[in-house]
Amino acid sequence: MRSSILIIYTGGTIGMQTDAETGALVPFDFSGIYEEFPSLRRLNVDIDVRTMDPVIDSSNVAPENWVALAELIRDNYARYDGFVVLHGTDTMSYTASALSFLFENLAKPVVFTGSQIPIGVLRTDGRENLITAIEIAGARRDGRPAVPEVSLYFQNRLFRANRTTKRSAEALSAFRSYNYPPLAEVGVNIAYNFPAVLRPAEYADELRISTRLADGIGIVKLFPGLSESILRAMLSAPGLRAVVLETYGAGNAPTRESFLSVIGEAIDRGIIVLNVTQCGGGKVTMELYETGLRLQKAGVLCGHDMTTEAAVSKLMYVLGLSLPQQETLELLRRPLRGEFTV
Ligand code: ASP
Repeated sequence: MRSSILIIYTGGTIGMQTDAETGALVPFDFSGIYEEFPSLRRLNVDIDVRTMDPVIDSSNVAPENWVALAELIRDNYARYDGFVVLHGTDTMSYTASALSFLFENLAKPVVFTGSQIPIGVLRTDGRENLITAIEIAGARRDGRPAVPEVSLYFQNRLFRANRTTKRSAEALSAFRSYNYPPLAEVGVNIAYNFPAVLRPAEYADELRISTRLADGIGIVKLFPGLSESILRAMLSAPGLRAVVLETYGAGNAPTRESFLSVIGEAIDRGIIVLNVTQCGGGKVTMELYETGLRLQKAGVLCGHDMTTEAAVSKLMYVLGLSLPQQETLELLRRPLRGEFTV
């Protein structure tokens, strides 16, 4: 059975090619995808292409773009078996994490990919990333989509999107998922890790999405020498509603009273503080050391092994639901889309 796939090009390096005359990088026209990559015809898929308007470098992405992308997928959900989103690598983990939260009953593959070298350059990594992402988006297992979640494919590995982070501006294997195993490893064959794949609770014909992402989210990264006055100023920013606190190691922060009282005052004002670690790998365990326990006592929430990208987009999503504070906290305390391990 053939699968039908919608490719959505949002911008980024993957969509660039070198102009034969000037040598400058110019946009690649994905509507001519079969002419450019005739080998695609050998895959058992039918492909349509949509280009977002405007096409952007992903450094310019904003929550409005995430909502527009989610709406486009929702509006085309019934017509396609899977979706491939081509996105700049710089903020791909943010966009893909955000989409994982915005989709409330996703049961089809949404595979993000991009490239470090433009697709129109001979040595590109984009061709392989694109072709394999299409194959994964169309893959089935027992008549159902093989990977019915938001994923990110890059350099031979498929990851759960909200577990990823861009780790290199140079290496072709630009992404890592430090705390969750790959959903698939690609060599001669595509070896799926099915036990690691999230299965939907329902297979509905229509995709429900949330279209409200809250603003007022901040990130505070601790470093030795961060003064209380600067921290207080950051936590007193007008409009601030929640902060991702990037702590040391297993979720640790200074134990001095002056520091903890600044955090405690912010929490008393209703600001949510979510603790994630600055380390790529490993998790926050606030009971492990006095330095973490004090944060927990002040009312800081545990982010477990969540990435900053997932923590920020989850806060935007959950606060965007405008629920009473207790329900908001309850949603933040449990994984909603496999974004952390408990
Ligand atoms: N600046 C580009 C972007 O994120 C880089 C890339 O696509 O790799 O849009």
